[in-house]
Amino acid sequence: MSKTRTFEEINNKIASKNAVVMTVQEFIEKIADGEKIEFDDVDVITTATKGLMSGIAGVFSFRLAEPRVHRKFKAVSLNGIPGYVGPCPNEFLGVIDLVLYGTAQSETRNNYAGGTLFRELVEEKPIEIVAKTDDGVQIDKTITIDDMQFARLMGTRQAIRNYSSMINTSTESIDTIFSALPFAPNTSQLTFSGCGALNPLQNDPLFEIAGVGTPVLVNGSVGHIIGPGTRNNIEKPNLMCIADFKGMKPEYMGSFMTSFGLEPICSIAMAIPIINEGVFNNIVRADKEVKLQILDLVGRAKIGEITYGDVWNNNFFIKFDPKKCKAHEDCPVEAGCPTKAYEVGKGIDRTKCFNCGACLRLCLEGCFMGDLKAIDYNGIEVPVVLRQSDRFNAIKLATELKNMVIKGEFPIKERISKLSFYEFVI
Ligand code: SF4
Repeated sequence: MSKTRTFEEINNKIASKNAVVMTVQEFIEKIADGEKIEFDDVDVITTATKGLMSGIAGVFSFRLAEPRVHRKFKAVSLNGIPGYVGPCPNEFLGVIDLVLYGTAQSETRNNYAGGTLFRELVEEKPIEIVAKTDDGVQIDKTITIDDMQFARLMGTRQAIRNYSSMINTSTESIDTIFSALPFAPNTSQLTFSGCGALNPLQNDPLFEIAGVGTPVLVNGSVGHIIGPGTRNNIEKPNLMCIADFKGMKPEYMGSFMTSFGLEPICSIAMAIPIINEGVFNNIVRADKEVKLQILDLVGRAKIGEITYGDVWNNNFFIKFDPKKCKAHEDCPVEAGCPTKAYEVGKGIDRTKCFNCGACLRLCLEGCFMGDLKAIDYNGIEVPVVLRQSDRFNAIKLATELKNMVIKGEFPIKERISKLSFYEFVI
């Protein structure tokens, strides 16, 4: 008979400090080392992903004026980024409600978008608000996250079950969100997204755990899944989540500069309680089990298939050797690092570094080291030049979640209802 355990049994084991909790990374490493892990050997597996998630927005509410002075607000910007006022008018309350997109660009600051603002909010930096009332008054105010009564991050499409890799088969360089620099032509390079074996939905392919109400960590803050994400097709499942900005950690957030503009960074971690053998059997055993399709950059037609084992293999971290640095004026890494993690004279800010590997190609002196790998595409060796998911920090988040589960700081509870799926991909 198939083995099972209830949520209550798992929670009792956690409370009595007898639960075995491990990250997927630990699970696959133990298996690679020849260890045999059975259903009885593990109670909870933690998963995570850190990547570019265009579909995130901040939902805010805070006081800007005394009650009864103005009827309502009709326009607002935060550090020069326009937000959408409402939907509630808060008539005569002096309180503004607004939604601001992670992809929205600042009109007053260079290379500054919603993702950057969200990170700075969490860093408790001051935020400049410019708001206009419907009676034509402008209100300028500087506030921090502590002045906000409500500040939540909501995603319309998050934690997609991995993604794709891209090759540009055309004869022209192309500016695109899939490359930090213009994407070189003639099948000469590959970029990819996805944390492979570590991805939450990759380890829950039948959606037995992920559902409405399932707790998740969003950038380190405990939130939950509120429903299926937009385009939640069975082939490309994704989530809609919400979490309080208060409690998030900056290192899991920010903006990533592509050759077609800034994209917001977001990180999601999910615990998978091993409630039956089916759930256990669906935990990924190796990156080479997870397919990675190759798409043609223009038109997105599928032109090949590899696995995440071809691109991820203990090569998660990008190293920097300061002794080799000649501190060139106009350093191409300082200008081209997609997260502005590198600064001449200061080195890498590890809280910003995405381990994307762009610096390996940009640096003139070979100061940066990492194994980005190359793939075989129809007999052509195509080098990987950019990773648009940060597996190193996703492992860190999955480990933080593991420790929270062990300490009883993260709820292990059943979803309220299943996710629904849309039939057509649009
Ligand atoms: S890996 Fe290099 S280019 Fe990428 S974020 Fe880190 S320092 Fe910047």
